[in-house]
Amino acid sequence: MGILDKIKKILPKRKPPEPQNNVPKEKENIRKTFGLYCNANHGTTDNKLCPKCTALLTTVMLKIKRCPYGISKPICDSCETPCFGEVPTREFRSIMKSGQKKMLLSHPLMAVRHKLAGLGADYAKMQRDKKSTEKQKEQEEKVKAKFENAFKSPKKSKKRKKK
Ligand code: SF4
Ligand SMILES: [Zn+2]
Repeated sequence: MGILDKIKKILPKRKPPEPQNNVPKEKENIRKTFGLYCNANHGTTDNKLCPKCTALLTTVMLKIKRCPYGISKPICDSCETPCFGEVPTREFRSIMKSGQKKMLLSHPLMAVRHKLAGLGADYAKMQRDKKSTEKQKEQEEKVKAKFENAFKSPKKSKKRKKK
């Protein structure tokens, strides 16, 4: 064990960052983005949505409610395992992409927060992955040690027998 490992053992362990519930803010951002997009492209006004956007938004909101990642979910527009289905995911991402530019102009704080929330969720995921890799390494070390001991012990017992 190196000196750094020894120091790390003595120092109090840092608590992992608590996951924040950014889901309500994300939902609000999505609703507003849909409103801006639909108003600009489908002839609607006052953040009201056309039937097609309404249907898509309803699906998205329902899926978010049942999201398998819970409150530590990534933002849906950068999710690696989108659950909306192929076509709705494509449409959703296209709306979010073009709507976010408008969001930056009309709701800059919300747009920046949305981006930060996405980065935060990515960071939390990175921490989780790191932790599970460390656990896996520990497990491997234990198995390795057991394996080595299994081969050492017969020799020792033979030596003892000779005596
Ligand atoms: S797209 Fe991803 S993050 Fe969004 S609700 Fe579905 S699984 Fe959750
Ligand atoms: Zn629309």
